[in-house]
Amino acid sequence: MNQGQVARARLDPGDRDASGPRHGAGARLFARGERALSDRRLLLSIHDVGPRFESAVDQLRDRLSRHAPAGKLALLVVPNHWGEAPLLAGSAFATRLRGWADAGSDIFVHGFFHRDTARHRGLLSRLKASHMTAGEGEFLGLDREAAAARMADGRQLIEDITGRPAAGFIAPAWLYGKGALAALADNRFALAEDHWKVWQPGSGRVLARGPVLTWASRSPARIASSLLAARALGPVLHRSAVARIGVHPGDTGVPEILASIDRAVAALTPTHRAARYGDLVQAPVGGAA
Ligand SMILES: [Zn+2]
Repeated sequence: MNQGQVARARLDPGDRDASGPRHGAGARLFARGERALSDRRLLLSIHDVGPRFESAVDQLRDRLSRHAPAGKLALLVVPNHWGEAPLLAGSAFATRLRGWADAGSDIFVHGFFHRDTARHRGLLSRLKASHMTAGEGEFLGLDREAAAARMADGRQLIEDITGRPAAGFIAPAWLYGKGALAALADNRFALAEDHWKVWQPGSGRVLARGPVLTWASRSPARIASSLLAARALGPVLHRSAVARIGVHPGDTGVPEILASIDRAVAALTPTHRAARYGDLVQAPVGGAA
């Protein structure tokens, strides 16, 4: 027996012993992975889509398309951002939006002006409006009638452009006041979401639960805390039946945020299949009630 044969003889029994169970465990893991891949979903969304942020939206679409089909990306459209960037039927941007809808993207109505122009009664509402959103919580302070009118106007404009029903309504900064919640049902939107869930406004049925992962880019402190939050939320999303990630135009100006987005999405794609929000209506996943 030469040295090579001795080495093989020493290794072989161990290999054989290990290979049986490892193979079995591997097969079981694979089977679990297969089930997880078919059951678990990843919902990716781009916020604040509109002519104001066209190039940032392009960058975000390109970036997320490395991880998931572009036609699965949800687009949250602002009809007239800050009253300064109207989405106009017949414009070049409108043609692009229709193309994205034709390619499969869910198109959501995302506020109307995005900016919060209401006066808030009550300390909590004022705090929420000014601290949580930098004044972007447009639907926090609107009464039912005003909220319903803006929702209907935004929906009409967007549906005329895309030629198909809006996937739903998502309030700027995910903030809904009482009036907005009532107006959602009045407008018969198919879906809505906030930080913690996706639901059907008509029936109140919750289709998915769990936090949405997002980043804030407007100050160094916000950037730092959102990078930390992304790390902390990673394992939570990994365990969720439906993992949601939302990105914003401002993210494109911060390389650390872009890297964090890539990491977060890449960590989920092995176990969570990219899906559309609309898929939840057909087959709600985990935690639905
Ligand atoms: Zn927004």
